[in-house]
Amino acid sequence: MEIFETCYLIGFVMATVIRSYYGMQFKRGEVLQSQKENPIVFIGMILWGITLVLPFITIFSNGLAIADYEIATPLRVLGASIFFGGLWVLWRSHVDLAANFSPSLFIRKNHTLVTTGIYRKIRHPMYLSFFMWAIGQALLIANWLAGPLGLLAFVLIYLFRVKHEEQQLLDRFGTEYEQYQKKTRRLLPKFFRD
Ligand code: SAH
Repeated sequence: MEIFETCYLIGFVMATVIRSYYGMQFKRGEVLQSQKENPIVFIGMILWGITLVLPFITIFSNGLAIADYEIATPLRVLGASIFFGGLWVLWRSHVDLAANFSPSLFIRKNHTLVTTGIYRKIRHPMYLSFFMWAIGQALLIANWLAGPLGLLAFVLIYLFRVKHEEQQLLDRFGTEYEQYQKKTRRLLPKFFRD
C-alpha cells in the first residue's frame, strides 16, 4: 500500500468519526417538515456509497487494475491537500450547523438559520466538503472506477438537491434567508467583494 492510498484510508476513518459523532445530534422525532427528494439524488447517493468503498478493492486487491491510470506525484500531493482540506470543511460545517444538520431535506421543530462560522460566506460548505473529497479521491486513487466516479455522484446529488433545499429554507425563514442569499454564494466565497 502506498502513501496516497494510506491517506484515503485515514481520511475515510476520520470522515466516519465526524459523521457518526455529529450525525447523532439529528433526531427523526424532531422533524417538522420534509421535502421530497428528486429520485436522481438517490441514484447519486447509491453511486456515492459505491465510490466510497471501491478504493478498498483497489488498495487491497488487483480487482480493478484494468481501470488504473498514471498520475504525477505532485498532483497526488495536491489531491491529498484538497482531500484533508475537505475533511476540515466537513468538520467545521458539522460544528456550525450543529443540531440543524439532517441527512435529508428536513426542517426540525427548533430549526434555526445558521449564518455564522463557515456559513458566513457560503451557504453549502458541507457540499463543498463532498466536492473537495471527490476531487481529492480522484487524485489519490488513480483508478477510473474508484476515483473520478465520485465526482459524478457529487454532481448528481448537488444539482438535483440544492434548489429544493434553498426553497425549503426560503419557505421556512422568508426574508431572513433571502438576505442571507444576497450576502453569500453557494460553494465558493466571493473573494473580491464583501
Ligand atoms: N447544504 C448545507 C447543509 C447540508 S445538511 C451544507 O452543504 O452545508 C442538510 C440540512 O441542512 C437540511 O435539512 C437543510 O434544511 C439544513 N440547512 C442548510 N443550510 C442551513 C442553514 N444555513 N441553517 C440551518 N439549516 C440549514
